Amino acid sequence: MTRKGILFVISGPSGVGKGTIKDAVLRKINDVQLSISATTREPRTGEVDGRDYFFIGSSAFKQLIDQDLLLEWANVYNNLYGTPRQFVDRNINQGRDVMLEIDIQGALQVKEKMPEGVFIFIAPPSLEELACRLITRGKDAADSIELRLAACKWEMEQVKHYDYRVLNQDLDTAVDMVSSIIIAERCKIKNLNMGCDMIDSSFNQGFNGSGQ
Ligand code: 5GP
Repeated sequence: MTRKGILFVISGPSGVGKGTIKDAVLRKINDVQLSISATTREPRTGEVDGRDYFFIGSSAFKQLIDQDLLLEWANVYNNLYGTPRQFVDRNINQGRDVMLEIDIQGALQVKEKMPEGVFIFIAPPSLEELACRLITRGKDAADSIELRLAACKWEMEQVKHYDYRVLNQDLDTAVDMVSSIIIAERCKIKNLNMGCDMIDSSFNQGFNGSGQ
């Protein structure tokens, strides 16, 4: 039987740095396929359609919902975001690991549908620190920052639905932690899809091979 891929879901409150962590982890760890989301938000300077997101209009997004082509979707601060289902299913079924970097509402939907996924919550060191990051990154207007901070209390409570919590106090440490989670999950016996025969033979190899 071929090994199924592992689904890694990275999420956390807005501004916590999950995008930066995801980029750094993908540079360090091989063979993880990043899912590209569809969104109705306008591209930012430098963003490329099909690489950063699939930038589509509201009616095209509605069609994806109606045709059940999204694994999950959510309204995130007045823009729609969703994960195309086919990319995830195809890669997982062909034994490739997939990463999603999505908001918490979306992660909870994925958890319902694919509870076998690995859910990683990126947490800010404190609310003050998060406020500071939202202000200094300069992407959001003042009222939007207030909205994001107000949502943060509910978002932090959702950590109980996740498998891992990674505190983003220091970027390098957070990247190491997420990379370690991926490596450890890949080593789990259930993720190796070993039958008893294979376990027996690798056990014997261990004894008869270099271990002797
Ligand atoms: P941004 O517009 O800054 O790239 O992303 C805004 C938020 O939307 C981030 O929290 C990001 O994780 C989230 N997001 C990106 N893609 C998806 C998606 O496919 N589904 C959901 N639910 N959230 C997403």
